[in-house]
Amino acid sequence: MIQMTRRAALVGLGCALTSSQAWAEPDQAELRLRRPATGEFLVIRNWPLTEVDHLRASLLLRDVKDAGEAVWVDPLLIETLARINVLADRLIGSATITITSGYRTIRHNSAVEGAAQNSFHTRGQAADYQIAGITAPACAQLAAMVGAGGIGLYDSFNHVDTGPDRTWDQQSRRIR
Ligand SMILES: [Zn+2]
Repeated sequence: MIQMTRRAALVGLGCALTSSQAWAEPDQAELRLRRPATGEFLVIRNWPLTEVDHLRASLLLRDVKDAGEAVWVDPLLIETLARINVLADRLIGSATITITSGYRTIRHNSAVEGAAQNSFHTRGQAADYQIAGITAPACAQLAAMVGAGGIGLYDSFNHVDTGPDRTWDQQSRRIR
């Protein structure tokens, strides 16, 4: 069971990193997204998010298990992933975020075991991800440090969304 607060997350990784410092130079932030289900790879370097990058990210995050249906994902989700990428880069060098699930149709979501009925995945506001070289608990801490809303910690991946502040893990389903 984890009970993360932003303060605890900062203590966990040392106080040298704060989200404001990490985002102090947004022009240099690079978001690298990989979608193993399709082999796609996307790099976003321009901030604030441009329309074309928003489109590219929305397509990468489409529902690959339900006819490739896509929606415009929440731009804040993309920015949150970019902030996580910045911190991940500081930890391990050049990090890439592997997306295992993005937007889900309601039909697909209802077939996912344990998924909330009105999951933020169905609104284009959530992503499940992994970062090679960073453990899932550390990824959850990075997400907390950049001020993500929903943070879910699972055995081999993390969930992040732009909904209200909540934290849970696979066992407890605890919501803060
Ligand atoms: Zn999820």
